[in-house]
Amino acid sequence: MKLLMIHVWNGSERSYRGRFSNLLSYPSLTLAVIYSLIPEGVFEQIDLIDENSQRVSYDKEKYDIVMLSFDTSSSLTAYKHCDEFRKRGSYIVCGGYHATALPDEVLQHCDTVICGPAEISVPEFVRDFSAGEPKRKYRNYNVCPADFPMPARNKITKRRKLKIPAVVADRGCSNCCKYCSMRTMWKSDPRPVESVVNEIKSLKAKMVIFYDPNFFGKREYALELMRALKPLKILWASNATADFGYDHELMQAAYESGCRGVLIGLESLNSQSLTGVGKRFHQADKYKEIIDNIHSHGMAVNGCFVLGFDSDTEEELLALPERVDRLGLDLCRFAVLTPYPGTKLFEEFEKQGRLITRDWSRYNQHNAVFTPVNFSAERLDEIYRIVWKKAYSWRRVLKRTFSSPWRKNGYVFILLGANIGFKFLGIDKRFRK
Ligand code: SF4
Repeated sequence: MKLLMIHVWNGSERSYRGRFSNLLSYPSLTLAVIYSLIPEGVFEQIDLIDENSQRVSYDKEKYDIVMLSFDTSSSLTAYKHCDEFRKRGSYIVCGGYHATALPDEVLQHCDTVICGPAEISVPEFVRDFSAGEPKRKYRNYNVCPADFPMPARNKITKRRKLKIPAVVADRGCSNCCKYCSMRTMWKSDPRPVESVVNEIKSLKAKMVIFYDPNFFGKREYALELMRALKPLKILWASNATADFGYDHELMQAAYESGCRGVLIGLESLNSQSLTGVGKRFHQADKYKEIIDNIHSHGMAVNGCFVLGFDSDTEEELLALPERVDRLGLDLCRFAVLTPYPGTKLFEEFEKQGRLITRDWSRYNQHNAVFTPVNFSAERLDEIYRIVWKKAYSWRRVLKRTFSSPWRKNGYVFILLGANIGFKFLGIDKRFRK
């Protein structure tokens, strides 16, 4: 039997990332993980396509099974692939965030849907398929993190990608932000430290990126992991929440274990907006202090902001680039608030009749897909583009890079490259239309 696995990316997302995409994307960990879950000896051929850098061809081979993993913004592209491969006689299996949130919709385009984590469901499906009895739906969250197999990274393409491997220690988060789709897929359940360390040792890499949505969320676990990372002498970065910036013991341990940067979803400088979406544990008036603290421990901060919360006003959002300057971030990112299916925010907006489209390809954090409170959806789109453009003027790119504490550590070219990469994320192009 022949199996094809596709990590689906929609075309507009690829063009959004533009010519600097290889500065900003990592090899697909999803494909490497799913490959490692396929029982040995069942398939004589397994092919992988990461659509971020490879094309899908329907007629190159005849596959018995095609497995696709995708998020909401790529779901329409995925449905096209499903329908085409189905016409050619393949059995279609879908998984990922969108399939977990809307399994019945996804089942209209496939034969089996896998909801939630893949670790138990994928091998179970393969066994059932081999026995001629595949089920329509699989959903099993009883995954033990100690049993995660080693991702089959040697099977995935690294062409046109950052050469930094991604690792996950805890893929869940115990917080409850209303807009977060992460929570629909995973619960917080960290892997044994020894298993994370063994995986990193096997990579023989000098730098890794932790995909954990909240690396420091379980403080004692994070400290134990960082103690174990220290002798490996690697450099690493991950996601954090703002409270990391108050905890000097944690910051010191992070630096000593090789952490040189954190990405924080600061989301808003308006405390009412933060409270409104369940992010009470962030205090906007403390952001400057937190960023200074993290800098003083030798780490850079990439701050992410979301535009379109109910308490946001046009004036406040338009002033964001100047206010971000004052925070002294090393890198910043902006996104339009997106109510992903499966989240509390989606339920709320649906009940309130505020969703303006179900064109999932627009659920990509670059378009307003709901009616905001204080301005129109069209105006939110405009504000979003203005904010990106202002925040990534050449003056700001250079100022952010050369006033960063990171420049003293010799990482100035990485920071400059990242700032320039973000400048050309395609947002700019839309302005020139
Ligand atoms: S802190 Fe981050 S990962 Fe955790 S629930 Fe909130 S948005 Fe999601």
